[in-house]
Amino acid sequence: MLFDTLKGLFFPKRCPFCGEIMKEAMNCCEKCEQQLPYVREGICLNCGNDPCCCNKNDFCFDKVIVPFYYDLGCAYAIKQMKFHNKQHFAKNLSFYLEKRLKHCIDVNDIDIVTAVPMCSSDKKKRGYNQSEELAKELAKRINKKCDNIIVKKSKTRKQHSLNRAQRQANLKDCFKVLNGIDLTDKTILLCDDVITTGSTLNECSIVLKKNGVKTIICATIGTTSCIK
Ligand SMILES: [Zn+2]
Ligand SMILES: [Zn+2]
Repeated sequence: MLFDTLKGLFFPKRCPFCGEIMKEAMNCCEKCEQQLPYVREGICLNCGNDPCCCNKNDFCFDKVIVPFYYDLGCAYAIKQMKFHNKQHFAKNLSFYLEKRLKHCIDVNDIDIVTAVPMCSSDKKKRGYNQSEELAKELAKRINKKCDNIIVKKSKTRKQHSLNRAQRQANLKDCFKVLNGIDLTDKTILLCDDVITTGSTLNECSIVLKKNGVKTIICATIGTTSCIK
C-alpha cells in the first residue's frame, strides 16, 4: 500500500534491540539476530533463574517463561519501552515471547493473559504500562483474551534499590484482584517486562491464587540472572 511505503520512508522501522533501521517484515535487525542473548536450555522453568534458586524461594507462580538474559540488546529494548515511549516495541518483542512460550508449554492451557499492573498515578505519568502492551501483543499472537485483572492499590518504592526482603515488604498487600472476575481453576499467563528477584510476580501470584487461580505462568522478556 502507498501509505505503508510512505510511512516506511518517513518513519522507518527500528530494531527494538539496538535502535537501528531494520526491514519492515523483521522483528529485529540482521546484526542483532546473530547475537540475541537467548537463555540456555538448562534455565529453570519454575523460577526463571539460571542457575535455579527454587530452594531459597517458595514462589507462588508455577512457571517462568523468558526468552532472553537481561543483557545487551534485551536491556536496551526494555529501557526504551519503559522510559523512551517505545511501547510499540512490544509488538516485535512479543514474537520472541510467543516462540519461547510455545517451546515450553501448551498455549491451549491458557485461559487469560494479563499483566503486572502499575498504580494509576504512575501509569498516567508514563501514559502506558509496558507490561500491559506486551500482554496485549502476546495475547493477539496466541489468540487469547487479554484482561486487566489485577490492580496496584498503592504507590511503592522503586524496587531496584531494595534487597530481596525489603522488596517483599515493600510490595506486601499492594495488589488486589478486580471485583467480579471469576478466576476459579483458571490458568493465567502473567506478563512483565523483566524478572529480577521474582518478588513482584510472586506478590501478584499470591493474590491470584487466593482468588482461586489454578496455574500461573509468568512471561517476561528478560531475566537478570545469568550463568556465572
Ligand atoms: Zn538491532
Ligand atoms: Zn528454579
